[in-house]
Amino acid sequence: MSQLAIYGGPQTITHDFGEIFDWPIITNEDESAVLDILRTRNMSGIDVTIKFEREFARYHGVEYALATNNGTAAVHSAMFACGIGIGDEVICQSSTFWASVLPVLNLGGTVVFADIDKNTLTLDPIDVESKITRNTKAIIVVHYFGHPTDMDPIMDIAKKNGIKVIEDVSHAHGGFYKGRLLGTIGDVGAMSVMSEKGFAIGEGGVLITRDQKIYERAIAFGHYERTGGFGTRSTSDLIQDKELQRFSGTPLGGFKYRMHQMSSAIGRVQLKYYKQRMLEIQKAMNYFWDLLEDVPGVKSHRTSINSGSTMGGWYMPHGIYCPEEIGDISLEKYCEVVRAEGVYTKPGMNELLHLKPIFNDADIYGHGIPTRIANSNNDIRQMKGSLPICEFMSDRVFSIPWFKHYRPDVIEQYASAFAKVSNLAAEIEQ
Ligand SMILES: *Cc1c(COP(=O)(O)O)cnc(C)c1O
Repeated sequence: MSQLAIYGGPQTITHDFGEIFDWPIITNEDESAVLDILRTRNMSGIDVTIKFEREFARYHGVEYALATNNGTAAVHSAMFACGIGIGDEVICQSSTFWASVLPVLNLGGTVVFADIDKNTLTLDPIDVESKITRNTKAIIVVHYFGHPTDMDPIMDIAKKNGIKVIEDVSHAHGGFYKGRLLGTIGDVGAMSVMSEKGFAIGEGGVLITRDQKIYERAIAFGHYERTGGFGTRSTSDLIQDKELQRFSGTPLGGFKYRMHQMSSAIGRVQLKYYKQRMLEIQKAMNYFWDLLEDVPGVKSHRTSINSGSTMGGWYMPHGIYCPEEIGDISLEKYCEVVRAEGVYTKPGMNELLHLKPIFNDADIYGHGIPTRIANSNNDIRQMKGSLPICEFMSDRVFSIPWFKHYRPDVIEQYASAFAKVSNLAAEIEQ
């Protein structure tokens, strides 16, 4: 009889190790920070948020941080701040959460999707370069599933073409690319800090930059009370740009993107411990992959040691599936057999955006033609087959457990579930 649990063999995972996965870690300090906000009825103020912003900027070694009510708002503000508007194109990967790029349609711009590298699952600079047109205004990189994008060639392409680089850091807070913190390499970093992310503080987003103009435009876009005229900040804090000051009291975007102060209060506490907690996650996740290094069928999605690059908090960690090494078992089936061993895993990554109706046939603003086309005066839609690597890799990645603590005995159990299934793959009935 097969030893695989799906055929009646013993399950690999014998206990509920739930607390190793719990996130974010909430202590009395987070609780009292929130209670303080409640008791002072200070939910809609900005004093705590500004403290959080300064601490967040300091952590990243940049001049400016602007907190927003969610990550989508941070990305939207970053796009506006970079000057993206009517007819402009941004280049982004198709395998990402929609918020990395969808707000561009609202600015009158559009997106051209570029393909990814099959090992990093992030933008392939060569394909990016081939998609540059005279309408290209920015490249939006996503450090996908924690893996840093290859920023050196991306920055070279941007410089050569006089375009901006926006980093979506929602998956990789605190991660490094060749020794530089993610979000500080491009013109602006934008990220979600909602409860499920690596740096998790509740609904919220943050934009970071060294560029005063970008910072001030982002404020003017969605923070009406921070452009002046409301007496909530000392005048030295207010934006300096005279042209933008004319609009004080009314946000240019017509949006209100203020962060809830319960989020910023938690953010201040979480930030104090983030580095230490992130380092433990890194140790735990690297140990998991070290254990599976020589196991057939699975390959790690991570940075190599001594590269100066890291995976930040390892948000939504995934592995790369190599079916040819284990008799071409389908990924669906492989995941089902692993789940029977007591380990949750599922195939796939974000649904590819270039194939979604919103980018192909949605007429959102009443142009009479799909918005994606209307905003570019050109049919730039990309059909199935147009981005071969990301289409191929969609069926080649699977989720893995996201350990928050370095507990070797527990991690070994989880790794051995994958190893068991791979090693007994010959017994799997398709
Ligand atoms: C979560 C996420 C966002 C959006 O953030 P919200 O806080 O959910 O608005 C943007 N980009 C990526 C890559 C994300 O994963």
